Amino acid sequence: SERTLVLLKPDAVRRGLVGEILSRYERKGLSIVAMEMRTIDGAMADQHYAEHVDKPFYPPLREFVTSGPLVAAVLEGDDAIEVVRLLNGATDARKAAAGTIRGDLALSNRENLVHGSDSPEAAKREIALWFPNLH
Ligand code: ATP
Repeated sequence: SERTLVLLKPDAVRRGLVGEILSRYERKGLSIVAMEMRTIDGAMADQHYAEHVDKPFYPPLREFVTSGPLVAAVLEGDDAIEVVRLLNGATDARKAAAGTIRGDLALSNRENLVHGSDSPEAAKREIALWFPNLH
């Protein structure tokens, strides 16, 4: 069993899709082991997206992820990191396959509803960043 960090970004909250998205993870068999709704500031965005801060798409992404409340959660299950990324679908929601969260529910490359850790190292770092008190 493995843990991963997911974000339901501010577009998911604004659009009323939190239940729909969490339900997809739960129906797949993943367990929610921690969850919190919060609005993050730019410094937290910079820490979360440390690998992207110098990229051209980062300033609008930073604006977007700090624009309102999001839901952060730790999900657990067999191969949770890969399974969540398969459920999330391709980064560009316009190209994401039908049946995925982005493919079914989003149409934007930036406002693509969800984030999932992309490796065991990223999951460890992101879980420690978002849930420092989780054992
Ligand atoms: P996430 O890290 O959020 O799970 P991802 O791993 O599919 O998504 P990354 O390449 O890590 O995608 O990019 C992080 C986020 O930055 C994307 O989810 C998206 O919101 C935004 N993003 C990435 N590429 C672009 C782009 N070309 N234009 C606009 N936004 C982008």
